[in-house]
Amino acid sequence: MLKRVLIANRGEIAVRVIRACRELGIETVAVYSEADHDSLHVRLADKAVCIGPAQATRSYLNTGSLIGAAMYVKADGIHPGYGFLAENADFSDECVDAGIKFVGPTGKSIRQMADKAVARTMAAEAGVPTVPGSDGKAVDVAELAAVADEIGYPVLIKAAAGGGGRGMMLAENPDQLSQNAMTAQAEAQAAFGDSSIYLEKYIGNARHVEVQVLGDGKGGVIHVGERDCSMQRRHQKIVEEGPCPVITRNLRNGLHEAAVALSASVDYEGAGTVEFLVDLDAKAFYFIEMNTRIQVEHPVTEVLTGVDLVREQLLIAGGEGMSLKQKDVKLRGHAIECRVNAEDGARNFMPSPGTLVEYIAPGGPGVRVDSHCYAGYTVPPYYDSMIAKIIVWAPDRTEAIDRMRTALAGYVIDGIPSTIPFHLALLDTDAFRKSKFNTQWLEKNIEDVMPQESMTA
Ligand code: ADP
Repeated sequence: MLKRVLIANRGEIAVRVIRACRELGIETVAVYSEADHDSLHVRLADKAVCIGPAQATRSYLNTGSLIGAAMYVKADGIHPGYGFLAENADFSDECVDAGIKFVGPTGKSIRQMADKAVARTMAAEAGVPTVPGSDGKAVDVAELAAVADEIGYPVLIKAAAGGGGRGMMLAENPDQLSQNAMTAQAEAQAAFGDSSIYLEKYIGNARHVEVQVLGDGKGGVIHVGERDCSMQRRHQKIVEEGPCPVITRNLRNGLHEAAVALSASVDYEGAGTVEFLVDLDAKAFYFIEMNTRIQVEHPVTEVLTGVDLVREQLLIAGGEGMSLKQKDVKLRGHAIECRVNAEDGARNFMPSPGTLVEYIAPGGPGVRVDSHCYAGYTVPPYYDSMIAKIIVWAPDRTEAIDRMRTALAGYVIDGIPSTIPFHLALLDTDAFRKSKFNTQWLEKNIEDVMPQESMTA
């Protein structure tokens, strides 16, 4: 078992990992940038090491500093959290070279899935349906145009190294394709240092459904149910829930089996998520990508199943193996997560960092708040704008929505605007209550949902 784990991250996920380590009797080492010395993760860890200035490239993304710090404190494991270096294959390899266990998959697995065009091929080889589109990376735009003619417009141009919705562009006809392909290439080059693109048929009426998996690294893989993350803005998840409320038992089983098949085919180690689009018209599902890390929305699965996913990550990395088998995974009730961000919903979700003058988190049965914030804490402007994740559980979806409403309404955050008023408005829409929406819905209806005035103290 691991004895001392360095958490190469910040914010709520660092706090989350510290808690799981502590329950397992593993010592924790926090790292922090000069802008983060007041963050809760620094206070909660057994030890904390400052790794550099505020800029992430000089601290949380500085592999040399992180591995140096881990060696200095004699950590035998590094947990990367999500974001930053979590899906950096070279970092995973560098940890191995330094004799430190990376809590996550091997560099090889990360590399296979990081290139989304390669991942599509691997999925197809594992018998998993993929969105109709190009094979591998495109060399030139003419090649893409031929594929688009074959599968029919509209098509989506995607960056092979993509993430966070960047480098993704729609094309409704050949003219748009040639124009937007070049823009997408430039955007991909700027964001990822890799201009490779590929093409998928655009699925207009779809839900985003993803399956949580755990792998032992030797081909043993289980799924821990699915999450529906279709409420999106700019291809980014806003609200997540589980189980997916709009699929049949057959489709659900198909998704679970596909996710396990793909993960087993690469001897996946640790926690991962296989993402799919469910075409609501064709009643079919297609693989879109695999995320080789613990995800922001992992608590949805935890409250639905009682499985502590971070604990499982640590057990697998420590050589103990997973503590459960497929038959032990039982889903009950319904779970919803809202991401509470320091953003102003009335001003196009402009980030609103600053000091939390007052801060009182909600509680009560079935309410979980994952956060690194407290009264007096200052949300720094350098990183993502997340204040907290609220996760609720209830016996059914309607009760879960009502519970989330109560939790959000009772959440006191004063000093800076947050996305709470936006979430409250969203939960009250007919579309959300009846689950009659697709991945496009929020983007198209945002004007109706958005609160008119920002809530500042
Ligand atoms: P990223 O890695 O940038 O997050 P993903 O491939 O995971 O990109 O897709 C993010 C979101 O973009 C999906 O949840 C969905 O809303 C939309 N999307 C992706 N592929 C398609 C597609 N082929 N058709 C329609 N929407 C898509």
